[in-house]
Amino acid sequence: MTKMLQQAKSKFIKVRCSKCKNEQVIFGTSAQIVRCLVCNKELAYPSGGKSRISARVLEILG
Ligand SMILES: [Zn+2]
Repeated sequence: MTKMLQQAKSKFIKVRCSKCKNEQVIFGTSAQIVRCLVCNKELAYPSGGKSRISARVLEILG
């Protein structure tokens, strides 16, 4: 049921770090691992041209 939130394309996504609760906007198609600016936890990593989000998605900003 959460599949649409787990993968996104060409969008900015607001996520919340599951470790430190920091809210951060990331790009949905980043080709590299995106890390939390506060605690350095991986928030998203590349998966077949998309980003797989490993943090809590709060909002799709488009
Ligand atoms: Zn964090």
